[in-house]
Amino acid sequence: MDSPKSHAPSLAIVAHDQMKDGMRDWARRHEKLLSRYRLFATGTTGGIVAAACPGLKIKRLKSGPLGGDQQIGALIAEKKVEALIFFVDPMTALPHDVDVKALIRLSILYDIPFACNAATANLLISGMARK
Ligand code: PGA
Repeated sequence: MDSPKSHAPSLAIVAHDQMKDGMRDWARRHEKLLSRYRLFATGTTGGIVAAACPGLKIKRLKSGPLGGDQQIGALIAEKKVEALIFFVDPMTALPHDVDVKALIRLSILYDIPFACNAATANLLISGMARK
């Protein structure tokens, strides 16, 4: 397994509850590529991915609804997170929808790659790892 270099790109991962199994499976499939990133995640997502991919070093923030999404937003604004993968639940109205909106806005503002489904996430991680 590769380990992230100090200049490795940083990537935040988040998945809503109904999307967490999908995120876990996606991370397992891409574990080797993900190991080249400095990884951040919201609390629960990070715990699930870390358990499924013990080779990955993940900085876990607070749970999303408790402020973890906003912590990721702050890291984007500080240029400490350079890309975001957020598996958004397309079927459920969530009380913290505003957090998704805020992250979309900051990703546009700071012009960072932002994937919200697996197909785009595949392109994102393979493209950035090549840099
Ligand atoms: P969680 O947060 O990974 O802590 O569940 C994700 C979210 O924003 O819903």
